[in-house]
Amino acid sequence: MTSPLHLQSNADLHCHSTVSDGTLSPEALAARAVANGVELWALTDHDEVSGQARAMATAQSLGLPYLTGVEISVSFAGKVVHIVGLGFEHDDSALIEGLRQTRGGREQRAKEMAQGLQSVGIKGAFEGALRYVGNPELISRTHFARFLVDAGHCSDVPEVFRRFLTEGKPGYVPHRWAGLGDAVGWITRAGGLALIAHPGRYGFTPTEEYALITEFMAHGGRGIEVVTGSHSLAEMQQYTETALEFSLLASRGSDFHSPEESRCDLGRLSEHLSGRLTPVWSALQERIHWPHGTQP
Ligand code: AMP
Ligand code: MN
Ligand code: MN
Ligand code: MN
Repeated sequence: MTSPLHLQSNADLHCHSTVSDGTLSPEALAARAVANGVELWALTDHDEVSGQARAMATAQSLGLPYLTGVEISVSFAGKVVHIVGLGFEHDDSALIEGLRQTRGGREQRAKEMAQGLQSVGIKGAFEGALRYVGNPELISRTHFARFLVDAGHCSDVPEVFRRFLTEGKPGYVPHRWAGLGDAVGWITRAGGLALIAHPGRYGFTPTEEYALITEFMAHGGRGIEVVTGSHSLAEMQQYTETALEFSLLASRGSDFHSPEESRCDLGRLSEHLSGRLTPVWSALQERIHWPHGTQP
């Protein structure tokens, strides 16, 4: 029997729940994915896989094919790059331990961010951000941004990032994330496949981007996000060519965080992958959790 998934399938392989910096639970996201016509789904919380069992169980009960997922922050060339992992064993102990280490220090960083914000007159940001946190080990800039908007300091989340939370701004504190080889290794040794997330977001020069891709592939990385909520149409076209040039598998995902904040809803990406690409799910057939009775 052939797979019901094809190049034009409505796969959404990138989104966030309350386990990291999204505002919906894994269960609510599964229901939203089904309502929005998703045909293959992955929950990819930042640096954390503890939502995987819940996402998979709900997907299974709703008839939605599921791939395990994660989005790991790594340091590369002085910037933070995100690596998405798909189709791994979510109870792999080395992966869980690696992620636990990469989360370590977020609380201290958050306290330093609050001090920076205090220096420009914003009081109580640490306690304020904590009120928005679903997972205390995963306090992120997004939680600060939500607090600053609700406290009236800015009118929306992008404004908070522009004024306070990006490099050179008072609430910005760099963090020691995992290395590129660590993240790719944890994912692949747990049976999964590693992808470069939203490559258009990093502002790399062509030389830096070439270095990222070749080093990523040398560590065993296999794919790249092409159609994502973070890319313009021009960037989707650009990274279609990049995927072809490097023989990378192509992925598709909204990067949905919240109904109030996200530009692209879960399952509502406007573009499909180009017919010239090989979709990441063609290499992950064996790793898909099919709902009972639908396995091809
Ligand atoms: P952190 O892991 O604490 O550094 O926070 C990174 C998160 O902040 C990302 O996963 C995004 O959800 C969010 N983010 C980063 N840059 C922006 C931006 N310019 N506007 C809105 N959200 C952003
Ligand atoms: Mn995020
Ligand atoms: Mn990301
Ligand atoms: Mn993301």
